Amino acid sequence: MQAKLKQLATEWGADLVGFCKLTAPPVKELPDNVYAVSIAVKLSDAVLKTIDGAPSFVYFQHYRTANALLDQIAFRLAREIEKSGFSALPVAASQSLGKNNPYIGMLPHKTAAVLSGLGFVGKSGLFLSEKYGSKVRLATVITDMPLTNELPVIENGCGDCRICQTACPAGAIYGTPPTTDGERNFDPEKCSRYMKEHFQDIGRGSVCGVCIKVCPKNKLR
Ligand code: SF4
Ligand code: SF4
Repeated sequence: MQAKLKQLATEWGADLVGFCKLTAPPVKELPDNVYAVSIAVKLSDAVLKTIDGAPSFVYFQHYRTANALLDQIAFRLAREIEKSGFSALPVAASQSLGKNNPYIGMLPHKTAAVLSGLGFVGKSGLFLSEKYGSKVRLATVITDMPLTNELPVIENGCGDCRICQTACPAGAIYGTPPTTDGERNFDPEKCSRYMKEHFQDIGRGSVCGVCIKVCPKNKLR
């Protein structure tokens, strides 16, 4: 079934698919033993090149389209899993838990992606895949269907680089690798405030993309 899920997700547009066991269920409605399918969709190099120290309208639309594709894939995967008799909860690509928790979703997608061995969390706080760097968007399906890791977890690979820290116009990136205790290595409030103050006319200040554009791991072509 795992191979079938991977094949379907790929046919539907996923560029990376990984599997893992989560260390704890993210919501009380799920059983203790939960697994995740991590899905990544690659962003367009040409679109990312339109980000020049500030987001672009083209990037904002592209970001939303990538999220919509991810949500479709996660939704359809969840249906396939349910048909097999297991429960499945698709977590949308861009999800927050409302006013009291504006910067977190039910489960950080990057947690599932890292546990699935698809990449690591960089100093930017972004997930960096081995193959595409941070030029990906993510979604997740949480399930009680037993799934097996196909890839080992990858160590942080930023090395001495601090390009994103220097480039961030908000000064929101600390320039340190993420800690293992879940502490963030960037300030989401600072990032969000800057975007809202400066880019309100582009997607109501919800995207920036500068830290993605400048990351050398992305090898923009
Ligand atoms: S999205 Fe923009 S403001 Fe936010 S951390 Fe990245 S570069 Fe800084
Ligand atoms: S710009 Fe450099 S430090 Fe920042 S995430 Fe990319 S590789 Fe890591």
